Amino acid sequence: MTTKPITFVELTWNEWEEKFKPIKNHITKYPEPEAEYSSFETYGAEVEYVQTKIDDRLVWTFGDGDMCTYLSSGYHYINRISYYVCTVPYEEDTEYQIIVSTEEECKCYSEDEDVMEARGGEAGDPDCELCEGYGLVTVYND
Ligand SMILES: [Zn+2]
Repeated sequence: MTTKPITFVELTWNEWEEKFKPIKNHITKYPEPEAEYSSFETYGAEVEYVQTKIDDRLVWTFGDGDMCTYLSSGYHYINRISYYVCTVPYEEDTEYQIIVSTEEECKCYSEDEDVMEARGGEAGDPDCELCEGYGLVTVYND
């Protein structure tokens, strides 16, 4: 027996949407009538549906990674935020990853000791309009 090599593919959110066609969450008590599709929660009837009622190859995990949020093929527990269910299954020998957003250093970001001290130990400028003192800004990859 031979194991087929796994292919890694990176997509953008739009490419993912077009290729795999996510569906609307039909279980939620808070449906979004205008949305073309919506995510499933990580608890209760919604996660139970995702875990037991459908093929794993139709499930995608939206997760919170190290300085980024991402979407990856299959059901994952670690770092999960929510799940998506698609109508087109992903191929068994392929692993997909979609980087949804990344945390980038804001233009006010500084690790200079004097600057940080003046900011009460923060790397971000509390008066910054972009990050409001967080020091990082979220950049969406679409
Ligand atoms: Zn800033």
